[in-house]
Amino acid sequence: MSESHLQVSVDQDLCTGDGLCVQYAPDIFEFDIDGLAYVKDETGELLTSGGSAVGVPERLRLDVIDAARDCPGECIHVRRSADGVAVAGPEAPPTS
Ligand code: SF4
Repeated sequence: MSESHLQVSVDQDLCTGDGLCVQYAPDIFEFDIDGLAYVKDETGELLTSGGSAVGVPERLRLDVIDAARDCPGECIHVRRSADGVAVAGPEAPPTS
């Protein structure tokens, strides 16, 4: 069952290309040839259309949230699939 409660996307316009997200969650984030991070779907295909969103598998949830919180470009958006509310990233409320 691949039910996903969160979705993640990257705003490539703000991506610095440092690669932190690729280190945190290589099953989700990967560089394209332009040196910017993009998200991969559940088949591992890189979605090179800017701002594409994919579901976050439960086993990767914390890795993806950590990546969004630490992303230096503040350009990883993690939202609830059900209602689009931001849970991590620049639009999410502070956590501490
Ligand atoms: S952590 Fe953020 S700024 Fe760095 S490569 Fe990933 S999306 Fe781009």
